[in-house]
Amino acid sequence: MQLPSSFSVTSTSLTNKIILITGAGDGIGKVAAKSFAAAGATVILVGRTLAKLEKAYDEIEAAGHQQPAIYPLNLESATEKDYDDLCNVLNENFSRLDGILFNAADLGERTPIANYSVSAWMRCMQVNVNSPFMMTQALLPLLEKSENASLLFTSSSVAFKGRSFWGAYAASKAAQENFMQTLVDELEGTSRIRANSINPGATRTKMRASAYPAEDPTRVKKPEDLMPAYIYLLGDASLGVTGQAFSY
Ligand code: NDP
Repeated sequence: MQLPSSFSVTSTSLTNKIILITGAGDGIGKVAAKSFAAAGATVILVGRTLAKLEKAYDEIEAAGHQQPAIYPLNLESATEKDYDDLCNVLNENFSRLDGILFNAADLGERTPIANYSVSAWMRCMQVNVNSPFMMTQALLPLLEKSENASLLFTSSSVAFKGRSFWGAYAASKAAQENFMQTLVDELEGTSRIRANSINPGATRTKMRASAYPAEDPTRVKKPEDLMPAYIYLLGDASLGVTGQAFSY
């Protein structure tokens, strides 16, 4: 992805922004949470492992950034009511929401369709497709209260062309792209909310290591390298950019 030459991240790139990040306890999500906070945002850390969220919280606080918030939520089991509760809690504490990074994902199985376990397929679809749908729907009223809300969906190269053994993960990422496009088309002209997707490409995380166990991780870029693009797309520097699929 080519960033505008005039854009560079500063400590005020996301000032006054309240941004929710799913999967904020590890990998790209954790680095995003810390980087957004360093760029001035108040971050809401959503994830399923409380200890990891607390560690991210402590690191952000120790760095002297805006105090974050923690909201433990298992996206595999979360129901419509859980998302409504999330909306109510955020409304009481923040009154609005300026951005969401849909980052959490389930890798599913790496196996042929013929052998794919139905429960693994369902779990992957629940975390990667149904959860972003339910969260978006529940939080739209809070996003509408923002002057310029930005949603960023996390894609993958298999979203654009399916690949052997990537089963539910590939289908889920394609569905997420399509969901983003539908949302943008519906909101155009009636809402200030915009949405884009980004395919981070090969990035040094636990998920990457699990998908490519034989790969030398030092040959793969770090989550930190992605952050200018993420901050650009969630901040006002990208106002007017919507409905786009970016790839790293
Ligand atoms: P990681 O596995 O390192 O992190 C995934 C995060 O999602 C973790 O914090 C994990 O929580 C959370 N998560 C998973 N399942 C659930 C759940 N049921 N409820 C709540 N949280 C959950 O992955 P990456 O950082 O690599 O991936 C981030 C995004 O980037 C994903 O959308 C992925 O598909 C995408 N991506 C990554 C690539 C790469 O090379 N790394 C390439 C292309 C796309 P916990 O830590 O508690 O398990």
